[in-house]
Amino acid sequence: TSARTPMVAGNWKMNFDHLEATAFVQRFAKNLRSRHFDFSRCEVALFPSFTSLRSVQVLVESEKLRIKYGAQTVSVTTQGAFTGDVSADMIAHLGCSYVIVGHSERRKYHPEDDANIVDQVRAVLAAGMQPILCVGESLEERRKGIELDFAVGQVHDVTRDLSDEEAAKLIIAYEPVWAIGTGMVATPQSAQDAAQAFREHLRATFNEHVAQAVRVLYGGSVSSKNAVELITEPDVDGFLIGGAALDVDELTRVCTLT
Ligand code: PEP
Repeated sequence: TSARTPMVAGNWKMNFDHLEATAFVQRFAKNLRSRHFDFSRCEVALFPSFTSLRSVQVLVESEKLRIKYGAQTVSVTTQGAFTGDVSADMIAHLGCSYVIVGHSERRKYHPEDDANIVDQVRAVLAAGMQPILCVGESLEERRKGIELDFAVGQVHDVTRDLSDEEAAKLIIAYEPVWAIGTGMVATPQSAQDAAQAFREHLRATFNEHVAQAVRVLYGGSVSSKNAVELITEPDVDGFLIGGAALDVDELTRVCTLT
C-alpha cells in the first residue's frame, strides 16, 4: 500500500457560469456530507473557469468546505502587458491549491508546447501551488506501440530541469488523447503500465522519495462504471475527470468509489 492520498479532480473545462458553479459546489458538498465522505482518505478538487473561481472561493471559505479547487491553465509570466492572461499569483490569491497544466485541449487549441508548459509548471510551483501535469499519447503513437515512450518522454521534457524538491510536488495525469471524452477508457493494465513507467522515470531522474511522492492520476472517460478497477491498480492514485464531473451525482459516486 502506498502513502499517497488518492485524488479525484473534476475538470469542468468551459462549462458552468459562476452561479451554476456555486450551485454545483453546494449540492456536491451536501452529497458528500450525507455519505460521510472522508476527505482525509481521498482529496477532491474542482477546476472551474477563471470567472467562477472567486465565487467558489467565497462559498468554500464561508462554509468551511474541504473541497479544493484550482485553475485550468496559467500564464507563464508574472505580470504586465499580456492581455487576457491570468498570473499564478492571481490564482493562488483565490485560494487555489492546484493548476492543470498542459491539458491536451490546451496543447491543441493554443500555442502551448513543452517549453511553455515547463514555464507554467515553474510559475505554479513558485506561487506555492501544485501543477497537475497532463501527458498522454494520441492514437497514432498507440498504433505504433510507442505510447509509453511518448508519455514518459513528455514527462521527461517538462520535468528535466526541476529540483528534487520541486519534482516531489508534481501531480501527473496520464490522459491518452484518444480516451478523452470518447467513452473509450484505457484498460486498468495500460493505466498501471504508464503510471509505473512514470514512477520508474522519476526514480531514475530524481530519487526514490520523488518517485513515491508524486501522484499519478488517470484521465479519459472515467465514470462510476470503471473507477473501481482503475483505482485498484497500485500506481494509479486517482482521476482527472471531464464529462463525469459535470454531473454532481455521478461525480459523487466516483469520489465514494475512489
Ligand atoms: C479530461 O478532459 O481531462 C478528461 C479526462 O475528460 P473525460 O473524462 O470527459 O474523458
